[in-house]
Amino acid sequence: MSLPEWLNGDDKDGDVPFSAAEILERCDILATHSSRVGAIERSYLTAEHARTNWTVGEWMAQAGLEPWQDAAGNQRGTLAGPRDDSPVLLLGSHLDTVPGAGRYDGILGTLMAIAVVGRLEAKGVRLPFGIEVLGFADEEGTRFGRTLLGSCAVAGAWQDSWWELRDAQGISLRTAFEAFGLDPARIEEAALPRERVLGYLEAHIEQGPLLEDADRALGVVTGIMGARRFDLTMVGEAGHAGGMPYGRRRDALLGASEVVTVIETLARDHGAIGTVGRMQAYPGAANVIPGRAEFSLDLRAETDELRDRVWDLIQEQAAKVAAARNLDFQAVERHDAEATVVGERLAEAIRAGIAATGDTAPLELLSKAGHDAMAIASLTDYAMLFIRCGGGISHHKDESVIEADVALALDAFEAAVLDLARTF
Ligand SMILES: [Zn+2]
Repeated sequence: MSLPEWLNGDDKDGDVPFSAAEILERCDILATHSSRVGAIERSYLTAEHARTNWTVGEWMAQAGLEPWQDAAGNQRGTLAGPRDDSPVLLLGSHLDTVPGAGRYDGILGTLMAIAVVGRLEAKGVRLPFGIEVLGFADEEGTRFGRTLLGSCAVAGAWQDSWWELRDAQGISLRTAFEAFGLDPARIEEAALPRERVLGYLEAHIEQGPLLEDADRALGVVTGIMGARRFDLTMVGEAGHAGGMPYGRRRDALLGASEVVTVIETLARDHGAIGTVGRMQAYPGAANVIPGRAEFSLDLRAETDELRDRVWDLIQEQAAKVAAARNLDFQAVERHDAEATVVGERLAEAIRAGIAATGDTAPLELLSKAGHDAMAIASLTDYAMLFIRCGGGISHHKDESVIEADVALALDAFEAAVLDLARTF
């Protein structure tokens, strides 16, 4: 079969359907669906979310997918298989962003999934399975403090306790659902039946510098690190910044600060990653000794065992710091995600896809960032394709990708789907 030239991936024209240039143009368009002028912020169940679903739905329809919004607000597109009961291959990523985001985290992978379907349809390829493209509505957890809400709904892992989660304005998740036009009572309709699903493939920017350092455009993911998050508190006693002598101070911020350095030391020494991204002193006045300090901890490691061991050590050391300063240390767990590994057959397909672009021994990467694939792992096997991003920068407005890399990634992602079809 001879193909039109634009299908071979060597076009440079932004108007060409399903090309890397078109995808990047669409990333620019979605970057304008933001709650802030001059910055990208798109959180769950907002007007920007609705606008994005509508726009992406149009693009899904152009690619031959039947677009629909599910009971959790995820934007989905269905390509029917040869039979009514054909199994379904899932492709996707997320459409929400952190505050001050770049334009590719999640978005690129969703638009690539749509483009791959568009390319296969344009070539008249008939797959032995159906495809569902998923644009997850809430991966980052920015609004309600709980990540992966969209993919958990699809995986059938929604928890009733989440309905009472509240955003910074005090609006509950239940109320936000209703305001968005969704019915909380129907949330289970978003879940996919396990027996129909073949697996899940996600393309995503690396969000780290390893591909760039290795001078590679693409990499295959071996697994995703599990993360635990805690709200930590040191409680002491507020007092006059002048009048209270050092020997009698119970300065909560000093205790918390010591714990922050303990976290770095223990995590580094044991090959884990600990980050304190937020700290607040109370009452928060220049002339008052802080009586209370609240801070966060995000803890990750290659295995859950290692991560949990480091957490035990941190707690031990924090208790010692607190005792030495006559403070009280408290920890509340906010989030716990298990480490996951990819499905071997699906990862093989990604490897075959990358090999088809000329890199026959692709770099293998463990994802240190969380992804929707973690939630989908409870439903079905997954595999991921990583794409080089400039300087490893992500969750930042300077996030960048190269058009040539996206073109290679499209070819690889399409080849991975065809590899699965061949051995189906
Ligand atoms: Zn992401």
